[in-house]
Amino acid sequence: MINIGCHLSISNGFEAIGKQALEIGANTFQFFTRNPRGGAARKIDRADANALRELMRTNGFSQILAHAPYTMNLCSSKAETREFAFNTLTDDLERMEYLPGNLYNFHPGSHTGQGVEIGIKQITDALNNAMFAQMNTTVLLETMAGKGTEVGGRFEELAEIISRVKYNEKIGVCLDTCHVFDAGYDIVNHFDEVLEEFDRMIGLDRLKAVHLNDSMNYLGCHKDRHQKIGEGAIGLRAFEKIINYEYINKLPMLLETPNDIDGYAKEIKLLKGIAQ
Ligand code: FE
Ligand code: FE
Ligand code: ZN
Repeated sequence: MINIGCHLSISNGFEAIGKQALEIGANTFQFFTRNPRGGAARKIDRADANALRELMRTNGFSQILAHAPYTMNLCSSKAETREFAFNTLTDDLERMEYLPGNLYNFHPGSHTGQGVEIGIKQITDALNNAMFAQMNTTVLLETMAGKGTEVGGRFEELAEIISRVKYNEKIGVCLDTCHVFDAGYDIVNHFDEVLEEFDRMIGLDRLKAVHLNDSMNYLGCHKDRHQKIGEGAIGLRAFEKIINYEYINKLPMLLETPNDIDGYAKEIKLLKGIAQ
C-alpha cells in the first residue's frame, strides 16, 4: 500500500483536516503552516493537534508534510525579506513540535541576483540558526524548477546545502515531479538514471517525501506550472513507475495538482489503482 494524499486547507483545524483526508481515501496530507503569501499563523490548539495525532495513529497515516509559505525567502537580497523569512522558519519549527515526528518542507529560496553561492550560504546560515537539537521534525528542501533565480533546481545545490547543515540527521529532500521535470531531469524516459544521480549527489536516504504533479510544460522549461496527473507532459505511465519504485513506494506522496476536493479523491483512487 502506498502513502498517498494531497494538499488540503487547514482552515478548520487539525482534526478536521485529518477527517477530510480520510474521506478522500488519503493516509497523509500536506498543509500550509500559514497563509502561503505570508502573514501570521493561526494559534495552535494543543487538544486539536493531539486529536489529529490520535486520528493518524488509529488510521495508519504516514508522516504528514507542513509546507512553508512561498514568500519565505531565506536568500533574498533584501535584508528585511530574509529577516521575515528567518522569523517565519523559527516560529514554524517551534510550532511543528505540536505534531512531533513529521516533515517540514520549504522552497530553498531565490537569490534575486546575488548568485547561487551567496544564496546557499544565506540558506544554510538560517537553517543552522533556526534548527535546534531537541526538534522532532525533519526539514525538507524541495527540488525546484530553476525558475528565475531559484536555488535548488540542481541536485548539487541541494547537496551543498545539506552538507553544511549542522543537525545533519534532521535534513532531507522532497522531490517534486513537476519541478524536477521542468528543471531538466527526464523522469519520463530516464527515471532510473535520475534517481541514480540523486543517489550519487545527495543520497537516496535523504529523500523523505514526493510531490506528485504532472507538468503543463516541456522538459527543462524552468516554468513550474502543475497539471493534473496524466494530463501533462509527464504522463500516467511515468507516475506508475515512480509510485511503484522500491523505496519511493514507502514515502508519503502528495498531490499538488490543480483540483478541487473531488478531483483529488479521483486522483488518489487512480494512483492507488496502479500501485502494486
Ligand atoms: Fe512547494
Ligand atoms: Fe511541490
Ligand atoms: Zn510548484
